[in-house]
Amino acid sequence: MIFIIILIIIKNEIKMSEEKVIVANKGLVRADFAFWVGQYLDKFYDGLENKKIMGNKCPKCGDVFVPPRKICGKCNVVIPLDENWVDLPETGTLMNFTITPYRINDRTSRKAKDWTIGMIQIDGSNTSVVYRLLNMEPEDIKIGMKVKIEWNEKTKGDPSDIKGFLKV
Ligand SMILES: [Zn+2]
Repeated sequence: MIFIIILIIIKNEIKMSEEKVIVANKGLVRADFAFWVGQYLDKFYDGLENKKIMGNKCPKCGDVFVPPRKICGKCNVVIPLDENWVDLPETGTLMNFTITPYRINDRTSRKAKDWTIGMIQIDGSNTSVVYRLLNMEPEDIKIGMKVKIEWNEKTKGDPSDIKGFLKV
């Protein structure tokens, strides 16, 4: 909207005078966008909206994926969309972690307070998800420790439905 208004002003100025008008405009442009995540992730996000973790299982090797996948990377087998879904618990194991001022899903501030980000393998799955570790001091964090999902009160059916993970 702001851009459209500026363009109209520039056009009018060009029309009014015979001289060329050069306008420099510094600022941020907000660009909201939406995209289709595909049928597998769509089903997974529907689960998150209901505070449920759903994975899918390779029919050949039995690996369970969170988030779900269409094709098993190991076997190259297509996992049918309407089969092999597995309900998983809210608990998992911390596989690795890092402490960083960088935001994983937000570019607003890179000089803010440190966040602790963990790779968590949900119990019953063979893959890891990346989320914040909440209410933990660095000295409390141990690879292999058990953690549990902290849900956002209001869910929207997207990755932000999981606020992070707490120590069990
Ligand atoms: Zn497989």
